[in-house]
Parts: sequence; structure tokens; C-alpha cells
Amino acid sequence: MPQIGFDTRQVLIGGTWRAPAGGQVLPLIDPSDGRLLAEIARGGAADIDAAVQAAQAALEGDWGRLTAAERGRLMLRMSALVTEQADELARLEALDVGKPVKQGRADALAMARYLEFYGGAADKVHGETLPFANGYMALTLREPHGVTGHIVPWNYPMQIIGRSVGAALAMGNACVLKPAEEACLTALAFGRLAQQAGFPDGAVNIVPGLGEEAGAALSSHRGVAHLSFTGSVAVGQLIQAAAARNTIPVTLELGGKSPQLVFADADLDAALPFLVNAGIQNCGQTCSAASRILVERPVFDEVVARMAERYRALRVGPALADLDVGPLISARQREIVQGYLGIARDTGLRVAAQATLPTDLPAGGCYVAPTLLAPATADHRLAQEEIFGPVQVVIPFDGEAQALAIANGTDFGLVAGVWTRDGGRALRVARKLRCGQVFINNYGAGGGIELPFGGVKHSGHGREKGFEALYGFSALKTIAIKHD
Ligand code: NAD
Repeated sequence: MPQIGFDTRQVLIGGTWRAPAGGQVLPLIDPSDGRLLAEIARGGAADIDAAVQAAQAALEGDWGRLTAAERGRLMLRMSALVTEQADELARLEALDVGKPVKQGRADALAMARYLEFYGGAADKVHGETLPFANGYMALTLREPHGVTGHIVPWNYPMQIIGRSVGAALAMGNACVLKPAEEACLTALAFGRLAQQAGFPDGAVNIVPGLGEEAGAALSSHRGVAHLSFTGSVAVGQLIQAAAARNTIPVTLELGGKSPQLVFADADLDAALPFLVNAGIQNCGQTCSAASRILVERPVFDEVVARMAERYRALRVGPALADLDVGPLISARQREIVQGYLGIARDTGLRVAAQATLPTDLPAGGCYVAPTLLAPATADHRLAQEEIFGPVQVVIPFDGEAQALAIANGTDFGLVAGVWTRDGGRALRVARKLRCGQVFINNYGAGGGIELPFGGVKHSGHGREKGFEALYGFSALKTIAIKHD
């Protein structure tokens, strides 16, 4: 077993690391070779209940007494610790998720930046005084919700914890984090770093476990005042139903089938790296993956040929080999992706290019060859459903109206990219796209910590990242004072 450096089988509740109440553990599998990486706690309802109580006690105690500036300072200290330990965090994330180490490092630095951004913002979010009736003064306060629940997936644990727990802490909430059962080493490291930075006990509580056990217990707990969920549409709907039963707000960051629209006048040299990288990054397991590439017909063949060239050059291998693409997260995920490739084959969807898998890959690893499919029709299953693997479809279009109809023609609406040299068209198209973020002549803006992020339709609702998240993680209170 690789060296992890701390006991991975514990939950963090009220500042104490301990075995879960049920005493059970779950295996954490290394997706690069299929071997046991570590064992993690199988937290359950009793642990969640204790964590919510510890968070509530923190709100009524040392954590709740801190000023916004003091909270911000703790977050800045933690950001510095994360930066200092970025290499080790990158190694853990690479082992756990199967992502190349350089991506793990980028994720660690993104988490540090979230903590820095939200640490700096903690004392800069404030209410207003409102013009009201004579003889009154009216004002608003932005207060924490209370105990916030955070359920995160396995694909970008550090980034998602940074943006969700980071914003919640900045506003003075106390957090209960339920990381994914497939990958939770950096969530545990996050808890240790929070302690090292000096966060009062109970401000950050961490309960790993299964979704249907610890996750379900957290989403239905009566002591939780706000839920932030990142994951699949199906589970998101369960979370929203659970939130409805307790009448609490919920932020849902769900899946996507995000398009990049390439018009014939686009700068193709600039576009090409973004078109491919946004499909294969993290082995395609990215909610904002650009899994649909829409190309105007005059440049369709050229774009497909140039993307194909890049696909054939992709190097696939174990996370620690730090190549272009690692394995998928699990054997189950590989079955899902291979199932989609089977549908492509059975329906005559043409393989324009496929990366070659080296013959010496570890036998137990969850590898799949990145695959480019073109041309595809807009209504094909692989052009409609989220695959969550390194598979992109390329769809031809004729003109702006058809591009928009195809782009908006799925159940999802998370992110879109527009490539054109025509400024008027870029803005016109951006306004008509139904999604939460549009990138013009780029895609992803390097992570965009400052940029509000979230979806419409089945991609979810509520916004994380940027200042907007701070409004979501706080409750507005209005006070009216009669002075005459
Ligand atoms: P998932 O929904 O299966 O799991 C996500 C989290 O929910 C995990 O922690 C899991 O344990 C928990 N969970 C599972 N069942 C639960 C239940 N019944 N009650 C409460 N919690 C439960 O998703 P996944 O397979 O881990 O992640 C992949 C999905 O996440 C993809 O659809 C992807 O697009 C989406 N995603 C979205 C974003 C975004 O920001 N929009 C980011 C990353 C991933």
C-alpha cells in the first residue's frame, strides 16, 4: 500500500479524529492499478448526527464568536498551508482519483486560491441601509445559515471542497462534509489542515461513508440549515426532495453535456487545444467537460482531422506517470463508458480517432482509450447523455440558428464555448445560449475561481464560485427601527 501519512479510517467530529460509531471501514481502490489504496471510515447516521451537533456547538461557541476578519485570517493561513503542501496533496489526489499529478497540483493550488479568495472576502460582504418610511431606519444583515451540509463527488474533491466549504466558512457557517466513497484522502487532509490553521473545533466536521448511508443521513438531518450538493442528476433530485422535507435551501451542481461552438471564421489554432483538452481532462470526468463539439460545415473536416491528430498523440498511463490521461475512477465507470462506445459501434457512429493504450498498463487499472466520434447527429444518445469519460462527439451545423438549436437541445445547461472572430455574433450567441457560463474564444478561463458557476435545467441551480456563492451561503435579515 502506498504511504498516506495519516490514519485514513477516522471521522473528524468536533475537533476529534475517531473511528466511526459503527466501527466499519470501506476500501479505497487505486484506479491506476486496482489495488487497495487505503481504508476509510464507513460513517453512518450516528456520526452525522454527532457532526451536526458539534457544528451547532461551534456556532454557539468559539467559531460563532469570531469576527469576519478573524475568520478570513484563518482561511488565509489555511490557504498558505495548502500551497506549502501542494505537492503532497497532488500526490494524494492523483493516487485517489487516478488523475495525472500535474492536474492534482493544479487542483491543490485551486483549493488554496479558493481559501484565499473567500478568506479575503469574509469581511467584505455586508448588508445595506434601505430608504423606507419617515421615522424609520431599515437595514439588512447577511448572516450564516447555521450548519451547512456539503456532499461532494470524487472527480475534483479539492476544488469542490475549496469552493463550497470555503465560501460557507467565510460567511460563518459550520460545516459537515461528506466526501465521496471513491476518493476522500484530500478531504481528510483538508480537515487536518483546518486544525493546523487554528479553526476552532467543530467548524469543519468530516464524515466519509456511503451516499445512501452518511449522505442520506446528512441530507435529511433536521439540524442542517443549507445543503450544497455536487454530483449526479439522480442523486441531486433525491437531495432536493430531502431539502424540501426540511424546507431548507439547496445548491445543486449536477451534470452537463456542454458544447463548444466553432464557427467557420474562428481562429482554429487557438481553439484546437481547448476543444480537445476540455474533453479529455481528468479522463473526461469533469462536469463542465466539452463533450459536444459543434462545427460549422465549411471547417468541419479540418477541425475533425486536427482533433484526431491530437487524440492519436494522447499518452495514457497511471496517475503517477503524469501523462496526458489517467484511468477512469472505477471499474464501474469504465463499464459505463465502454457501454456508450458499444452503442456508438452498434449505431454506426464513426470513430474518427482513438488514442492507443500502451500494452504494459497495470492489469487492474480502469483505463479506456480516449475516443473521438464524428460526424454525429444532434439527437444521437451519445450527443445527448452525459458519458463522463474521454469521449467527444463532433456535430456539423449550418449557420447561427442551427448552432443554437443544437447547443440548447439537451436536458443540460452548464457551460458553453463560442469560437468566432465576429464580435457581434459572439455576444448574440452568448446571450441565447441556455447555460450558466459562456466562454468566448477560450474555455474554462483556467478554473475561474472568481466567476460564478452553476447550471440551468438538469445541470442544477444556485451558484458557487465568485462572490455570488457568499450570498448563497448566507441568509438576509431585514431590521426596521422606528426612531420617531
Ligand atoms: P453521485 O451523485 O453518485 O455522488 C456524489 C456524492 O453524492 C457522493 O459523495 C455520494 O456518496 C453522494 N450520494 C450518493 N447517493 C446519495 C444519497 N442517496 N443521498 C445522499 N448522498 C448521496 O455522483 P458521482 O458519480 O460521484 O459524480 C459524477 C456526477 O457529478 C456527474 O454527473 C457530474 O457531472 C457531476 N458533477 C458535477 C459538478 C458540477 O459542479 N456541476 C462537478 C463534479 C461532478
